[in-house]
Amino acid sequence: MLESRNSNSLACKKSLNRSLFFILIYNDDDRLTELALRIKSCSLCELSGTRLNTVPGEGDRKSAIMFIGEAPGQNEDREGRPFIGRAGNILDRLLKSVGLSRKDVYITNMLKCRPPENRDPSLPEIESCADYLDQQISFIDPQVIVTLGRFSFGKFFPDKSARDYRGSILDWHGRKILPMYHPAAALYNPSLISRLIGDFSKLSNFIADYPVQENEPEGKLRSEPTQLQLFE
Ligand code: SF4
Repeated sequence: MLESRNSNSLACKKSLNRSLFFILIYNDDDRLTELALRIKSCSLCELSGTRLNTVPGEGDRKSAIMFIGEAPGQNEDREGRPFIGRAGNILDRLLKSVGLSRKDVYITNMLKCRPPENRDPSLPEIESCADYLDQQISFIDPQVIVTLGRFSFGKFFPDKSARDYRGSILDWHGRKILPMYHPAAALYNPSLISRLIGDFSKLSNFIADYPVQENEPEGKLRSEPTQLQLFE
């Protein structure tokens, strides 16, 4: 009897230790992975019926800089990755212009599924998806959030117009918000390119404060900012 009680107590201790171990190693990285799995099976809005893939986001999960766009487009829906295709190409080049690459920052969207025909996100879709983005912001904990387009700006400042604040640096609960044009806008209006370049140059101030060199191979410095040629 005593032997049985002792062995039960030992099993109990082992189980407790195992639980504590999992609690200790369950970090924000794991939470983001688990979140991506939940997004993958999400059916909170009607976009779950038309998507090919969910697009949770990608990049450095510890980055101080987070980019938030609007919603996946056709290429993103096909590949399950944010900002690829022509708009993604512009974003890559804009990042390069300030000495960054997409692996130095975290890139995501307001919606994790593509609206058909690339239409604007609806309010119910934005509301349904909002908790995923809130959790990403909480887990990644960026110091700087770049909003790409009016929808992502509206998340932080619903009563303000993105047009009035584009290129400004705003405070939001201890984080800096930089509203910028969506890179896709430059595809339809090339005159916006110079404004995008100017807005991105403001990121340089933050890069000095929040260096990203820990993502580079040992001994290798981040690449120097380059002259931007968006349509090579
Ligand atoms: S857009 Fe967001 S809320 Fe809607 S199905 Fe996709 S993940 Fe779920």
